[in-house]
Amino acid sequence: MKELSKRTSTFTDSVIRRMTRISNKYGAVNLSQGFPDFEPPKEILKRLTEVAKEDFHQYSITWGAQNFREALAKKQERFMGRSIDPNSEIVVTCGSTEAMMAAMMTVTNPGDKVIVFSPFYENYGADTILSDAEPIYVPLYPPEFNFDADELEAAFKLNPKALILCNPSNPCEKVFTYDELKVIADLAEKYDTYVITDEVYEHIVYEPNKHIYFSSLPNMSQRTISCSSLSKTYSITGWRLGYVIAPPEICDTVKKVHDFLTVGAAAPLQEAAVVGLNFGDDYYRWLSDKYTKKKNLFLKGLDDLKIEHTIPQGAYYVLLDISEFNYNSDVKFCEDLAEKVGVGAVPGSSFFKENVNHLIRLHFAKKDETLYDALNRLESFRTKITAR
Ligand code: GLN
Repeated sequence: MKELSKRTSTFTDSVIRRMTRISNKYGAVNLSQGFPDFEPPKEILKRLTEVAKEDFHQYSITWGAQNFREALAKKQERFMGRSIDPNSEIVVTCGSTEAMMAAMMTVTNPGDKVIVFSPFYENYGADTILSDAEPIYVPLYPPEFNFDADELEAAFKLNPKALILCNPSNPCEKVFTYDELKVIADLAEKYDTYVITDEVYEHIVYEPNKHIYFSSLPNMSQRTISCSSLSKTYSITGWRLGYVIAPPEICDTVKKVHDFLTVGAAAPLQEAAVVGLNFGDDYYRWLSDKYTKKKNLFLKGLDDLKIEHTIPQGAYYVLLDISEFNYNSDVKFCEDLAEKVGVGAVPGSSFFKENVNHLIRLHFAKKDETLYDALNRLESFRTKITAR
C-alpha cells in the first residue's frame, strides 16, 4: 500500500484530548481537557428542548442561520465596540477549531510563514501543518509570559503571512495589555501581516485585567480575522458552535473554505443558542465572577499544598511546577498523576516549542465539589509519586 499523506505524519493526536481518555481509563478527576462539568444556562437548555419539536432539522445557511448571525453581531458589537454586518462579516463554524483552520486556509499558501507565540494551544501547530504553512515560534517568557519586541520584530522580518494570537491565552493564562497589542499591531501594519485571533476566553478575565479585542486597535479591523466560540462563554463545548468575524473580502473566502470543510454548524443548536447570545451584560459579569471564585478556591488549595503555580489573568488554566519530582518526562508524570493520584492534567511540553518538561496544566472549569475532590486527591501526590 502507498504511504498515507506526509502532512499528517508530522504530528500526533491531541495530547489534551488523549489525557481525557487516560483520565477516564483511571477514573481520575479530569482537569486536563478544558471543559465544564456544570450545566449550561437553563434558558438555553429550555430552548433546546423546544427546538427538537420545531423545524430546525435541516441545513441552515452554510455561513450560519440568519437569526444566529444577527444575534451574534449585536452581542459582539456591544463588546467589540464597532458595527458588525451579520451578512458579510460573520461565518458560523463548527467550534473555533474550525474557525482557526478556515482562517489559516483562507490566508496562507503552502510554504507561507505564520508567527505563533510559545507556549501555544496545541491545535495551532497542527493547523499550520495541515495548511502547509511554516510556524515561526516567538517565546513568551515566564512568569508574566511577556514577549521581547525585538525578537518579535525579527520574526516579522522573515515575511510571515499571519500571526496567531490567543488572548486571553491558553495555556499561560496571559491577558495581553493594550501596549503589548499595540506593539503587535504596529508590526502587523509595518510588515503587512494578517492577525488571526483566538478569543474563546474573551469573557473569562480576572480583575484588574481587561480583554481588549485585537480588531479594535487602530487600523486593525481590516487585517484581523477574529475567531471565537460559544463553548466557554455558555458552557456548551460539545455543541461545537464557533465563528469568524472578519472584513467582507476576507469573509467571502472563509465562507468558501467553511462550506467545503463542514457545510455548516448544527442548525438546531444554533437556534437554541440564540437565547444565550441575547443575554444582557449581567450574564457576562456573573460568568466572570463565577470563574474568579473558582480560580481563588483552586489557587488557595494549591497554595495550601505548597505547589508552585502561575497566577492566571484570564482563561481557566493554571500551570504547576513539578520540578521537585525530577521526572525526565512530563507525559509520564501526567500518566502517573492520573493513575496513582487520580487527577488528569496536560503535560506542559505539548504547549511549548522550547524544551520544557517541568510544567503541567490543570483547569478549574469544574463544580466546586469536583475541585475539592481534585485538591483532596492532590494532598497525597508527594507520597504517591516519588521523586526520581
Ligand atoms: N481548549 C480546551 C483545552 O485546551 C480544549 C479544546 C478542545 O479540546 N477542543 O483544553
